[in-house]
Amino acid sequence: MHQACASIIGTHQSPINICEADCFEIRDALFVEAYDDESTRGCITGHDDHYTFELDVPGEGLRAPAVQFRSTKATLRSIHFHALSEHQLEKQKFSAEFHLVHEICSQAKPTDQYGQEPSSKIVIGVFANEVDDKEALPSLSLEFCKSISIVKNAKERSCVSDPFSFADLLKDAYSKLERFYHYRGSLTTGTHDEVVSWFVLKEPISISSSMLNEIKLLDQPTRELQAINRRIVLSKD
Ligand SMILES: [Zn+2]
Repeated sequence: MHQACASIIGTHQSPINICEADCFEIRDALFVEAYDDESTRGCITGHDDHYTFELDVPGEGLRAPAVQFRSTKATLRSIHFHALSEHQLEKQKFSAEFHLVHEICSQAKPTDQYGQEPSSKIVIGVFANEVDDKEALPSLSLEFCKSISIVKNAKERSCVSDPFSFADLLKDAYSKLERFYHYRGSLTTGTHDEVVSWFVLKEPISISSSMLNEIKLLDQPTRELQAINRRIVLSKD
């Protein structure tokens, strides 16, 4: 059974700088289960200048995107974005970083030799590089920019955009799960609870300049680097 951690700032904070030379190599895979594209729809919600894409509850018979690592399974609930990136590789920042927030739903196979992830979320950090508008997921870019402008121009402090799908971006990110860094850390906003199993993908995705500009203009909070302390970062190649 998973037990909720106390929400105090401890020694397992995020984001961190990752140095390949200090990592410990593993072979365990992170993989995505089969899901229905229709279950990747949702809306961007804005609360007090904080913007998140929240997935709709999947309709009957539809499978939501879910990932598994060792015996831990987690379902995708929301996606948000930072520009520049919060995590760094060898002290280098990327243009943007997407956070795919998965809620841990089941802990199968209690005999698993590694036990379970002692956290309540799997967050996949996906770095993004900027490319020309024509090269990068044009339909996503268009819908994303349209939705962002709806929430940004809303008069209320809480607002919701038209629904759209993040299927293209997810497909791209999930195709890069083979190579990642894994460590245990915290949320990078709010109360910084240490409840996150982080998976930072080694290979960045590409996003269009206009999408990147929209993310920059949102001015989402980006937390400074935190000390690694005695943590070990695992690396899967
Ligand atoms: Zn984030």
